[in-house]
Amino acid sequence: MSKTILHIDGDSFFASCEISLNHKLKGKPVVTGQERGIATAMSPEAKALGVSRGMPVFRIRKELPQVIITHSNYTSYGIFAQRMYDIVRRYTPLVEEYSIDECFADITLAIGEFGAPEALGKAIKEALNRELGMTFSVGIGPSKVLAKVASKWQKPNGLTVIKQEDVRTFLKDVQIGKIWGIGPQTTLAMQSRGIQTGLDFIEHSKDWVAANFARPIVEIWHELQGMSVHRVNSDSEEDQSSIQCTRTFTPPTQSKIELLSELSKNVEGACVKARRQKLCARRIHYFLKTQEFRYKRKEIMLVNPVSSPADIMHEINKSFDEIFRSNTTYRATGVTLAGLVDDTHIQTDLFGGSRKVQDWARVFEALDKVDKRFGSHTLMLGSSLRSLRKYKKIKKVFRIPSMGEVN
Ligand SMILES: [Mg+2]
Repeated sequence: MSKTILHIDGDSFFASCEISLNHKLKGKPVVTGQERGIATAMSPEAKALGVSRGMPVFRIRKELPQVIITHSNYTSYGIFAQRMYDIVRRYTPLVEEYSIDECFADITLAIGEFGAPEALGKAIKEALNRELGMTFSVGIGPSKVLAKVASKWQKPNGLTVIKQEDVRTFLKDVQIGKIWGIGPQTTLAMQSRGIQTGLDFIEHSKDWVAANFARPIVEIWHELQGMSVHRVNSDSEEDQSSIQCTRTFTPPTQSKIELLSELSKNVEGACVKARRQKLCARRIHYFLKTQEFRYKRKEIMLVNPVSSPADIMHEINKSFDEIFRSNTTYRATGVTLAGLVDDTHIQTDLFGGSRKVQDWARVFEALDKVDKRFGSHTLMLGSSLRSLRKYKKIKKVFRIPSMGEVN
């Protein structure tokens, strides 16, 4: 199956982090690396003055006294990196934390709702820009190596998509030594065989490449052809573990109550899955999708991991007004439970928070049993009721204190 891979690269990342943390630096020539005595990252303004990576700090001071030189603050950069990965994970759990300012994501299955890779790439890029206060260069292609070529294509702040049919057009203009994974030795070996560009390389047969180069180079040849052989390694901390529930509804609505009800139903669906796997979420992402296919998203970090829809809806209710707009027509909502942990990891907080969680857990355990016996959505949260009424004939509504209506 063909894949769609996205690569993200933070522009002048360390310098951008410093500027994001201190807005007074915005628009100024900023260089990081004072403690090392050499420039490690430069803002575009510093680059324009001629500062390049590795330039000695004393020389910059002497020749360009207007440049602001800062100490590196890797702890902060690491936090920005973590936030970058987390933002991308809202769209797909298949994210590889490649370096402090780069990540790969397998978006093959995530494109769906967006219609096209460009639209998804744009949404991710805008979210990163808005939430981190810096720009990123995004590349999309049928393999990791081509996604890398794409993200380099237009820097800074670029979004480049390499489609299978355009591979040759792009590779014609890429020097062989600039391709990810091809080192200086291999570059010389290629050049001695008349290969100058990526296109020169892929025009050779696989057998010829295999006869002349080691296996990793053969793999790059495949990747450059648009065949994905390097998988996105998402086996890190957060793993593939996230649970999603999304639904498009008809007719579209402007009603806040109806939207909350749709969300509530998705939350209940996601929680059923979580409870089945004995998992609790540390983070929740939810979104509203407008009639114009625009997404409004919100991420919630939880103090205690939860798997109870009532608790999650309580949190969503608190932040809902930040993304909901009146006079806007919405067509879908969705929720993702992320940062999943085993439900035995729940710790008791000082105020009995965990006790409450456990009580709810027992309530929902009972609900799951009822659903299993009498069919799904036999019992549900009152907040989901409106959504369900459209699809199912409700026979009876009971009110249970602290749970709203239950049907
Ligand atoms: Mg970078």
